[in-house]
Amino acid sequence: MSKKNNNKKDTSREVNISTKVHTDKVKSKVNGGVFVYTGAISVAQLAQALNIPSSDIIKFLFLKGKMITINTILDDELIGEICLEFGYDFQKKVVVEAENFEDLVIDDDPSKLQERPPVVTIMGHVDHGKTTLIDAIRNSNLVEGEVGGISQEIGAYQKEINGHKITFIDTPGHEAFTAMRSRGASVTDIVILVVAADDGVMPQTIEAIDHAKAADVPIIVAINKMDKPGADPDRVKNELMQHDVIAEEYGGDVICVEISAKKKQNIDVLLENILVVAEISELKANPDRYAMGTVLEASLDKFEGSKATLLVQNGTLKTGDYLVVGTSFGKARRMTNEYNKIVNIATPSTPVQIIGLTEVPEAGDRFMAFKDESEAKTIATKRKQIKEAKIKSKSSASSMEDLMNRAKEAQITNVNIIVKADSTGSAEAVKASLEKLSTEMIRINVIRAASGAITESDILLAAASDAIIYGFNVRPDAHTRAKALEEKVEIRLHRIIYALIEEIQAAMKGMQAPTYVDKILGQAEVRKLFKVSKLGTICGCMVIDGVVKNKCAIKVLRDGVIVYEGKIASLQREKDQAKEVRAGYECGILIENFNDVKEGDILEASEVVEEEIL
Ligand code: GDP
Repeated sequence: MSKKNNNKKDTSREVNISTKVHTDKVKSKVNGGVFVYTGAISVAQLAQALNIPSSDIIKFLFLKGKMITINTILDDELIGEICLEFGYDFQKKVVVEAENFEDLVIDDDPSKLQERPPVVTIMGHVDHGKTTLIDAIRNSNLVEGEVGGISQEIGAYQKEINGHKITFIDTPGHEAFTAMRSRGASVTDIVILVVAADDGVMPQTIEAIDHAKAADVPIIVAINKMDKPGADPDRVKNELMQHDVIAEEYGGDVICVEISAKKKQNIDVLLENILVVAEISELKANPDRYAMGTVLEASLDKFEGSKATLLVQNGTLKTGDYLVVGTSFGKARRMTNEYNKIVNIATPSTPVQIIGLTEVPEAGDRFMAFKDESEAKTIATKRKQIKEAKIKSKSSASSMEDLMNRAKEAQITNVNIIVKADSTGSAEAVKASLEKLSTEMIRINVIRAASGAITESDILLAAASDAIIYGFNVRPDAHTRAKALEEKVEIRLHRIIYALIEEIQAAMKGMQAPTYVDKILGQAEVRKLFKVSKLGTICGCMVIDGVVKNKCAIKVLRDGVIVYEGKIASLQREKDQAKEVRAGYECGILIENFNDVKEGDILEASEVVEEEIL
């Protein structure tokens, strides 16, 4: 195929968004007893659509105490009431503006859908063999022409097995996965969970399970290091069962494959099983439309400018296509595959590196190809303006109130919660109590329940899953709190289980939570202890965050868990009594009736206020 030909615009591909959709005219139709509409509508228009006299609607609302005329514009609530009264279901279709293409739901004609390769991410605990497995897969079944290897730079590659392709994301671990999700992008269809057969389920294994479950992505377990003498796959399966990952041979639906990444044993079996899971998942896309997808990696090349790896998720990307990537505009001037070879088309699930963008996008940014250069340019400009405006007025991503409101508006039916508690027992108890609160309308979904302090990993999971974190007898440290603020994740802290339940119940009913809670003032780290007879133990501290006030409430935290709760009896700064001591200063703290402090403990100062603000 000559270059000229490739650049010729083809008119056969479907476009993703037609700007013609954006008319002010209400589009509505009744389809199989369901009234589908896109926006506000007048009484006359609704009457016509439902094929009933306008006077019937006016009468119905009059009897409900509402005075309207034939020209009154009805809001969603009234449209719903009227439809139900006259025997119709109703559905509002949100018209997506071109610049919000992330929200676009493409309803492809089923006859145009074709099978697409699964996109696979490898996760697991550190040192369990993720990188070794990625390398083993990368070098398996190399066919002629591929020798010379896959470029590490592209960030993803495809493998062919039994005539089917599989796309692997090159960055193992859940950090990249989470970062993508917290930006609203989901690229992974299947997670390979690597667990070392001689080590079993470890903290990051559990984190990876949480992430895969929160994203609703099926897991295949690769029980690795089977060549080692201590390998015990049954133990691994048993431990996984405690985290609701139940192997097929134990009556569940999770495929476990015993492998050795190092000795390259059973890699082909693992790959075959990826195809099995992919088939069950029925992964399909329409190659016959303009491409849309996600940026996997991007960088600035000294010579070639912006370089980005794009994963095509639907449609086909062709050389010369105009693109909006994130907020930038460009043209796919040159596309290369994982072998650094120039390609002219990229079909669904294919990663390609492109040059020709005006800016360097970010991983997780979504892209869309357009037929028309000026349309793409206009949309990129609008997206940039919207992004800037959003940065200026960034609001909380997921406060309890916000989640409950969205639940009520039926934008979401799941309220995701992460529970961290002082022991596994209480974490499980809180989880069970919370899940019991689920109603038909709102499902309380505990996506992680674990013991220990609230950590950055919890914040990342919460940000990625729109979840709220509940701490039960545990506290976040200053660093984690800062991260929560940055990611706009809400953390709620409780000491008593029924207070926590009450708060959620109240939120579900849409009421203000009746809370008088601790507001954290600051934290001090215990650096040295001085035993003073008659007085007790004086803690030589450094205030590491906020402020500590004399006589204020104090919690003693050891590894993020509250070991004592009481009051400051005396606060000293350089031999003198102090009213308060701020971050960066040393002080002496005597805790009322408590001497069992240890070096390294964190003293958290707080005072009771009406609403907790973190
Ligand atoms: P990652 O941190 O999960 O990416 O783990 P790595 O792939 O870096 O592997 C950690 C260590 O385990 C390395 O020393 C590997 O050589 C070793 N390793 C990985 N897979 C196997 C295996 O199947 N058998 C044995 N014996 N060692 C392995």
